[in-house]
Amino acid sequence: MKSLRWIVCALAPIAVLAACQPSTTVRDSAPPVGQLGKTVAPTRYSIELSIDPSKDTFSGKVVIDITLKEAQDAIWLHGKNLKVSEVYLTDAESNRIDASYEERQESGVALVTFAKNAPAGASQLHFAYSAPFNTAANALFKVERDGNYYAATQFEATAARQVFPGFDEPGFKVPFDISVIAREGDAVVATTPEVSTKELADGSVLHTFARTRPLPTYLIALAVGPYDVVDFGMIPVNSVRDHEVPLRGIAAKGLGGEMQYALKNTAGLLSALETYFGTPYPYEKLDLIAVPESFGGAMENVGAITYDEYLMLMDDNSPLDQRRAYASVHAHEMSHMWFGDLVTPMWWNDIWLNESFASWMENKAAHAYWPEGQFDRETLKGALGAMVNDSLASARQIREPVNNNDEINSAFDDITYQKGGGVLAMLEHYVGEKQFQAGVRLHLKRHADSTATAEDFIASVATGSDRPEVEAAFKSFIEQPGVPLVSAKLDCTDGQTPRLELHQARYAPLGSPIKPDAGEWTIPFCAAYIADGTRKSSCALFDRKEQSLDLATGACPTQVHPNADGTGYYRFTLDEAGWQSLIAGATKLSPAEALVFADSLDAAFRAGTVSAKAYVSGMTALVNHSAWDVVAAATGYLEEVARIIDPKDLGPVEQAFRAIATPRYARLAGASDSESQLLHKRLQRFLIVVAKDQAMRKPLARQAARAVGLNGKPDPSAASASELETIFTVGVQDLGEPFFDLLLKQIIASEDPEFRNSAIGALARLEDPALARKLEAAVLAGKFKGTEMLRVLGRQMNRTETAEQTYAWLREDDKAIIKMIPEAFRSNIFPTFGNAFCTNDRADEWQKFVESHAAELPGYERDLAQTIETIHLCAALKQASGADLLAALGIH
Ligand SMILES: [Zn+2]
Repeated sequence: MKSLRWIVCALAPIAVLAACQPSTTVRDSAPPVGQLGKTVAPTRYSIELSIDPSKDTFSGKVVIDITLKEAQDAIWLHGKNLKVSEVYLTDAESNRIDASYEERQESGVALVTFAKNAPAGASQLHFAYSAPFNTAANALFKVERDGNYYAATQFEATAARQVFPGFDEPGFKVPFDISVIAREGDAVVATTPEVSTKELADGSVLHTFARTRPLPTYLIALAVGPYDVVDFGMIPVNSVRDHEVPLRGIAAKGLGGEMQYALKNTAGLLSALETYFGTPYPYEKLDLIAVPESFGGAMENVGAITYDEYLMLMDDNSPLDQRRAYASVHAHEMSHMWFGDLVTPMWWNDIWLNESFASWMENKAAHAYWPEGQFDRETLKGALGAMVNDSLASARQIREPVNNNDEINSAFDDITYQKGGGVLAMLEHYVGEKQFQAGVRLHLKRHADSTATAEDFIASVATGSDRPEVEAAFKSFIEQPGVPLVSAKLDCTDGQTPRLELHQARYAPLGSPIKPDAGEWTIPFCAAYIADGTRKSSCALFDRKEQSLDLATGACPTQVHPNADGTGYYRFTLDEAGWQSLIAGATKLSPAEALVFADSLDAAFRAGTVSAKAYVSGMTALVNHSAWDVVAAATGYLEEVARIIDPKDLGPVEQAFRAIATPRYARLAGASDSESQLLHKRLQRFLIVVAKDQAMRKPLARQAARAVGLNGKPDPSAASASELETIFTVGVQDLGEPFFDLLLKQIIASEDPEFRNSAIGALARLEDPALARKLEAAVLAGKFKGTEMLRVLGRQMNRTETAEQTYAWLREDDKAIIKMIPEAFRSNIFPTFGNAFCTNDRADEWQKFVESHAAELPGYERDLAQTIETIHLCAALKQASGADLLAALGIH
């Protein structure tokens, strides 16, 4: 069909031809709730921001070079809470077309309408505007400390649009020219090195930064304020990089000196990454910013990575757990410089690839740099942790369509980070470490400074490793939800080679709506077994419902472990004899095989396929394993399963837990290697906080009292930093109001992130209802930073002892509480607060409660559905197995 418009234009005099180019009517269309489309694309940004963090607003002038595919009367772009005072377009001949700007959708979709059609081709969009600073650790936010005002940014996923208008999608990667007008004396840090400063007539200073490489909006960062800037000199050249890279640390005034540990360990971690990737750090400089606000972790902004202070401010004597957190998070963020920054996902449905990769790579790099840091099983533990969520019927698949702006935040979950990391580790093991690395390197080479999809990555790995069959395995794990459950039955029929009869289905716990025979994966499967007294293994690609696997032995194995070295992302189940032989040999399993055994045993109990008796004896055996994290995992499963116990029966259960864990704790006495330190802290917490060991609590209460100065001056040396949280927990639970008051006062006065972390963790475990009211008042009065209040609320809701009273408070002050939660966490964290409930009535009630706040929690649906399902599953397990569990623990 030809349009009438074409005929009119064909006959028109030359003068009006320009306006007669084909044009699209955009102004009457509905705002796009997902991707903006491709009819207009940016090619460069020029951004000048005036930032004075002591004020409530900032202002900006932005010019965006764009290309229009066809003439248009309006364009959709992103902008949120921007007060635009001027907007116009200049075409290639510098002709001005006036325009208007209107925010049309709450997620930040705005319409720029032109006074006449904007022509196809290159042009420039001009904006002048002002906007409020964010106060909830998102977008461009400001923080006051000791009378000083600081500003910093957090853009991922979609907050850049609150700072400048633009095309706020990862697929639009273009260069940025950034300049900032700041107060004299304020430091200004941006993505690239500063190239000039100029004093302006009003005394403020214009800082201009070098043009960036092509970047998406979400990776731009700024920090402005009286920060300490520590110049750490150059990161030296190495076998991969022939040039030095300037390294700096940025922290709130007075704290620069505490960046030394983070700075001096950076070159080693970075070099481990460069060696793996085989290409140098891609950007011109590296700044590490310790943001004076708790914004929830760290962010891989190009050249200017931001961190919670807890992850940056420390020294050689800081607690091992804090230094481990630094090493893994720092390696994670720096690995994004290649994977995420240099090669960026086309759209948010592939954010999993960014995060899965970085979650897997962080442990590889941290382990290479610091082998004693115990990172080698962290990816496996992360994957086992993700199986909790992945067991739900409402679990999302790793690669999930994102069609709506409101769905973007819920794409950042355990499945994205940890399941994805586990799947990468499984495939790496299958194709071989070197071959997988070749695939990664090929991927970076193919897509540097550009974008790539999951298919591109899979193709790179398949080509780089020369293993095309890996594609099917990859897809089967990223494009369907759920944990594969492999049942393995040993067949030792006389005269035949011993073999395993394998069957796969989707794992489903008791009470789950998952269909019993759902799901089919292409699983890189490996079994380990003991035959004739030696350990052997056999592997196969298991790609149908049922398959048999011949074992490489003539003798019938005495023990079979159906996930050799724990490399497979799946659970297993065995017959009674199979379980019993693993339970009997549990302490001799390798740590990785012990971890997956613990998980599969727990899963089998929750599915009703092993008895409570076998469950308790298996976990008890694992508590006696030599590896710190196996012991921690086993006690963790016991703590979690205690949710199905009625509160009236908790006393005897705590006693049974003490009987299980005390002998293991006693054997630790005197050991000081890093494994023992990590285990000591975890077992101590289990015995004191979960098993309520009164004899152990008494001396800790005295330490807590001395540390805060309950009867005199505070004596910080009375409690070691690594045990501080447990010691303060005893204080908070056993020493009453005077202790609570003092501790709260000291938290409010302290800017020591490690102290705050431990003390707030302890405060969140208080149980006295009267004190809980005081804690709630402190939360509402804004005494905690950004994400700290989430931790308080989460822990109070998540413990059986305090869930009910906290729920009552939530109902009372719901609106105020929701408003205080940082925006990026609102819709995906708040609904999960109901996770601790264990009755069907509570599930219904919680559902109604969250739904009544739908308007304040855009995109809450999935997290609520998962929470409701979790409550129902708990209720089902309680009904089916609660009494058996008590009996297995020797109660009744
Ligand atoms: Zn990440």
